[in-house]
Amino acid sequence: MNVLVYIDLQNGRPRKSSAELLTYAQKLSGAGSVTALVLGHSLEDLSALGSFGAQRILQVSTPELTHFDGLVFGQLISEAAQFTGSQAVLLSFDHSGKAIAPVVAAKWSAGLVAGATGLPQGTRYPVKAFSGKALAKVNVLTEKIVVALTPNSIPSEKNGSSVAVESWIPSEIPASKIKVLSVNKNTTDIPLPEAEKVVSGGRGLKGPENWGLIEDLAKELGAATACSRPVSDIGWRPHHEHVGQTGITIRPNLYIAAGISGAIQHLAGVNSSKTIVVINTDAEAPFFKAADYGVVGDAFEVLPKLTQAIKKFKADQA
Ligand SMILES: Cc1cc2nc3c(=O)[nH]c(=O)nc-3n(C[C@H](O)[C@H](O)[C@H](O)COP(=O)(O)OP(=O)(O)OC[C@H]3O[C@@H](n4cnc5c(N)ncnc54)[C@H](O)[C@@H]3O)c2cc1C
Repeated sequence: MNVLVYIDLQNGRPRKSSAELLTYAQKLSGAGSVTALVLGHSLEDLSALGSFGAQRILQVSTPELTHFDGLVFGQLISEAAQFTGSQAVLLSFDHSGKAIAPVVAAKWSAGLVAGATGLPQGTRYPVKAFSGKALAKVNVLTEKIVVALTPNSIPSEKNGSSVAVESWIPSEIPASKIKVLSVNKNTTDIPLPEAEKVVSGGRGLKGPENWGLIEDLAKELGAATACSRPVSDIGWRPHHEHVGQTGITIRPNLYIAAGISGAIQHLAGVNSSKTIVVINTDAEAPFFKAADYGVVGDAFEVLPKLTQAIKKFKADQA
């Protein structure tokens, strides 16, 4: 089948999930084609998207697309899907993908798989259900399909070569009904939804003045920082760091949780992490049941020791 992949830009550059989406598209397409669609101005040379499997790259670069609007982007993606004769549209199951996917499905009269976690078997796509406690298979019976892929579901593969970027002119760019009054940009080095390693703190850290322990370990590991909901509710940490059912869902390779009890609402956002390490003084804390490695101990003692051990390990390797 022909697959159209929506490439989301962050700060003018394709998100890390782009490579994964293109790899997935290449496997899904079989003998069909893979087209990447970029909406907005990019600061990076987009031709490199070809190395992950895009055979064609279309770009709409106009100032009207500077600010995100799910309805406008969804309309343009559905037009591009028709224009390219696609049978599938693929995008990431992140903040913007969650806003766009249903719009494309409705406008393009396609079935929708929200949060696919792997490639389909026939017409059955794997997804997580009940806050990650169960796996389900969504059987898609429509001819056309929109797949929103959960980030970090498959490893990206480089098996193509760079492709020229074509400027594409849609029939119209709908006027956005959203008026942007101000923009506050998250200035963290590693965006949490894309981080491969995450160090996270909960109420057990007692106060914002102790967050240096989390940040030091994160810096040594090259990890992003996260927190439990009460921590952001109290204002110890910014809201964009809150993970869980009502926060961000993440799927890093490594999630280190210090002073977090492991309530079901927290686990819902992190339990698909590949390796979970829990540090908690209470041996009965529910998080230990979901952990791959657990340390029953005081975060104030364990975190600095862990940071030192990683520093030493890196120095020994150098
Ligand atoms: C509708 C709803 C939605 C929710 N959504 C979310 C969500 O998205 N994300 C989320 O996180 N929560 C969410 N919650 C809240 C959730 O139920 C828990 O209350 C919350 O996750 C607990 O946060 P915590 O583990 O940081 O704090 P606590 O429950 O207070 O746990 C602190 C932990 O730290 C340990 N500890 C204490 N001192 C130390 C120390 N020195 N060293 C090591 N460990 C120590 C304790 O043993 C304890 O296990 C939601 C709740 C509801 C009702």
